Formats: sequence, structure tokens, C-alpha cells
Amino acid sequence: MWVMMWGAQPALSLTKGPLAAQENRIPHSVQVGDTWLALAYRYGVTVADLQAANPQVNRQRQPVMGTAVAIPGSGGERMGVVVRPYGNVLATAVSMNQSPWQLAQQNGLETPYRPLSYAPLFAPGGATPPQEWPVGIAGLELSQPVPQPGQALGIRGTVAGDEPVTAALGGAGMDSFVANGRWLALTGTGAFYGRRQPELTIQVAEQPLWSQPWQFEDPNLWEYQSITLTGTAAAIDQESIRQERERLFAIWEQNSPEPQWDGPFQLPIHDYLEISSGFGARRSYNGGPFSTYHEGVDFSAYGGTTVFAPAVGTVVVAEPLYVRGGAVILDHGLGIYSGYYHLSEVLVTVGEVVQPGQTIGAVGTTGLSTGNHLHWDLLVNGVWVDAQAWLAQDMACWLLVGWARPCAPQG
Ligand SMILES: [Zn+2]
Repeated sequence: MWVMMWGAQPALSLTKGPLAAQENRIPHSVQVGDTWLALAYRYGVTVADLQAANPQVNRQRQPVMGTAVAIPGSGGERMGVVVRPYGNVLATAVSMNQSPWQLAQQNGLETPYRPLSYAPLFAPGGATPPQEWPVGIAGLELSQPVPQPGQALGIRGTVAGDEPVTAALGGAGMDSFVANGRWLALTGTGAFYGRRQPELTIQVAEQPLWSQPWQFEDPNLWEYQSITLTGTAAAIDQESIRQERERLFAIWEQNSPEPQWDGPFQLPIHDYLEISSGFGARRSYNGGPFSTYHEGVDFSAYGGTTVFAPAVGTVVVAEPLYVRGGAVILDHGLGIYSGYYHLSEVLVTVGEVVQPGQTIGAVGTTGLSTGNHLHWDLLVNGVWVDAQAWLAQDMACWLLVGWARPCAPQG
């Protein structure tokens, strides 16, 4: 029998000294819900020993998702759940359909008649490792363990009721949706986000705030583009640029609560010459600093080349704009918008629902553009993300799983 008490030495510790302890350490890849306490229960060690084995890790925070922590000892791994008790051990055991005496024993308590306490309990058994979720949510999953700047990110889980759930990444609110017992939150980060460890926080209604940091990587493969603006550049109307941006963000920051798409997103253009500029390319104008980046993907193509809808969506913009020229913007639901710019022809109207593969316009060089190309952008939660990464990661289908809907391949 294994007994866990706060501060107690683990019964199964095999370490005999600092050297032995080093040799016995095994790396554990931190997943969402792997709190210090959950890992201590899982590997049969104390939180103090676990933290001592990871002196480089900030103990004021939970282990960082997407990094590895060292597990001291080799007491094996146990399945079970971490429970926030209902008042006392007895009530908790009843709620879990478990023996109160066994549950008390597993947690180093003499009787199940422990008075009111909020210290979590460990209930062994089952097929999944113990993990600490936000109160009211179970089975959290991340769209990718280690995200990169400029990517769309999702988190999903199951909820008992229809209570509101809020989530934030590094203090910035995420779009959050609850339907049919599923919870889904999503956002994006800018291309300048860098390598950092923002805190992911989740809260169901008035329940306690849950928090765990998330590791971002940045392989630094960004293109650098020095652009020289001459002649007509001086005539660019900054006020028109500002107004267009303001108007579009008023659209992009809305979120309709149902996903409209039902399959993976497709490329919006088939006959292109090359991708002339990827998402996130750092840009310097007339020798200035690389302080802006490319907010979409550019496909160079002959004028008149057909542009297709990548997925089901409702047309919310279909008109010539000052910067973006002939523009189509599609609302795909859940706060996800895609845009098609510099078009020579706009072949849809506002309010129309388009199907994947439907022609929506033709490549041109209208607006502020120096040659025929399609600029394709994608926003999630009002943040530009890399549409190519969105396709490669099949985020569209990942989100539909969270919505309990099949994601059928498109014909
Ligand atoms: Zn572009």
C-alpha cells in the first residue's frame, strides 16, 4: 500500500543519495493538467521532492506545458483521478461511488470523517493518469503541445452544464464556446509573439481560476523583406488606411457561435506561380526598422486566375477597399474569418453563403498592390494567423471534433 501525505517521504523511494537520485530521474513531457500535485500522485513522490528534482523550474507556477520535468525515483506510474472534495472524504467517496475507508486510506487519513477541507484527494484506478483540470471541465486537450507564434491555438474539453467558461492566454481573452457538453476556446498569436511561456487561465462561472503556463517555440525561420516605396507611395492616404482597418476589425472581432464549415479548409487558389510572401515576413520600409510583418499569404498569379472559397462561410465583405482593393471576407463561424484581396473581380455578394470550391473572385492588382497576386488572410479571435499552418495542422477538423461534429473530406 502506498500512502501520500504532505511533506512525507515517499514510501517507494529508491534513491540513496544525490548521485543515485540523478541516475533515477526520468523525463516527463508536461501535458495540460499535469500540475505539481497531479505529477506527485502519478509517480508516488512528494511535491517537495518533485520540485527539488527540478531546481531550474519556477515553483511559483505549475509545470510548463510543452516542456519536460525530471521525475525523481522510479516508483512506477499510477492511474487515477485528483478530486476536489465535496466537504469531506465521506461525501467525496459517495459522489465517486467509492469506499470511503479506501479513499481515506489512499490519502493517508485514519478515517473518512475528515472535516471540511479543500485539499485535493487522490482516487486511484481507471486507465488515465491523474490530472488537475479547472473545476467544471474534464479531459482538456490542446491543439498542439508546443505552439509557434502566428499559429491558431485551440483548447477543448467537456463540461457538465451550460455555465459560461472564460479563458485567457497571457492575459488576453480567448474566444470561448460551450455547446452540447463540449467546450472550445481559441485564439491566435501575432508573428512577433516570440519564444515565451504565457499563462493559460480557465474559469467556469464562479469556480476557482485554473492556471498553467504554456511553452511557445520560435524556430526563427522568418523572411526579412526590405521594401522601397517610391513615387506614388508619398500619396498614400494614412487616414484611409486607418479607417479601413478600424472598420474591418469591427467585423473580425465578432464571433458567431456555430462553426459553418464541415470539412478541412482548402487552398483558395490552384493555378498560382509561387508563394511570393509567407505569413509573418518581417518588413522594413525605406530602410526603417523591421517593425511590421506580413499579415497573410501572397500567391503570385496571372490576373484573372480563379479564387475559390476554402470552406463554407458567409460573405461579410464584398467590395473595393482602399488598401486591399477588390475584397471578399468570409465569416466561417467561431470568430474565424478569411479574406481575399486585390481581386480584379468580386463574384459574390454580402449575405451569400458560399460552399468550398465555389468561385468568389479573380486575381488582380487592385488597391495598394504592385502586381497581380492573391493576398489571403485568416483571423481567429481578431488575430491574424498563418493560413498555411492552419491547413497543415488541419485545425478546422480539430475544432469540429471539439464540437462533436464529423469533418468530412471535401470532394
Ligand atoms: Zn500580401
